[in-house]
Amino acid sequence: MQEKDGHVAVMGCRKCFKCDNICPCRALYRVDGLVRVDYSKCILCMACVKACPNKALVPID
Ligand code: SF4
Ligand code: SF4
Repeated sequence: MQEKDGHVAVMGCRKCFKCDNICPCRALYRVDGLVRVDYSKCILCMACVKACPNKALVPID
């Protein structure tokens, strides 16, 4: 079960690396260069959502 309501989904990551090192919880990681979110670490601070120039990180309720 998820602890929090909502999560950050990754849709259409373009591997621009602009979100590297932005997550205070180190919840972002990559698989084959594509960003993924570790939901067990994410605190929904939205820093990555604001940083992504491609709107690939999307908050979902
Ligand atoms: S919302 Fe915040 S805590 Fe969650 S992955 Fe993005 S930067 Fe990290
Ligand atoms: S900033 Fe957005 S497009 Fe760029 S690597 Fe991160 S999630 Fe992918």
